[in-house]
Amino acid sequence: MTDEQLQAWVEEISLRSFGLPFRHEARFNRRLRSTGGRYFMKSHHIEINPAQLAAYGVEEVEKIIKHELCHYHLHIMGRGYRHRDPEFKALLNRVGGSRYCQSLPGDQGRRTLPYRYMLKCTSCGMEYLRKRRVDPRRYRCGKCSGSLHLSSYGQQN
Ligand SMILES: [Zn+2]
Ligand SMILES: [Zn+2]
Repeated sequence: MTDEQLQAWVEEISLRSFGLPFRHEARFNRRLRSTGGRYFMKSHHIEINPAQLAAYGVEEVEKIIKHELCHYHLHIMGRGYRHRDPEFKALLNRVGGSRYCQSLPGDQGRRTLPYRYMLKCTSCGMEYLRKRRVDPRRYRCGKCSGSLHLSSYGQQN
């Protein structure tokens, strides 16, 4: 899908679901990493992550476009356009937009990695949680400079 096709699609959704024209610019942005879309308050432009289309398909991207159009129309009308505003929530519900600017499957795992390792000081007992396995010989206790012992922590997958 090209930027021109996206533009036409956003204009069409705007008329169909909001009964209002979208008079600004919509385009794909490959650099949006974890978010599906973005609305720019200064330029009134909407950007959509093209990876979202590949990962979730047309139906999900339409929901993301509706989400961004809620920001757009409410902002232009001078109404509550932020996520926490009741007007935003009500409009989002009415048009069936996605609740969040949805993140991509790959990014999710990386961002919500649990703590799975614990470094414990052999002298003072101070504990340090780590998300990845580390070599305890390369670190020293931040409190007393004692040597550290690595063990697993929490759930194992
Ligand atoms: Zn949003
Ligand atoms: Zn220590």
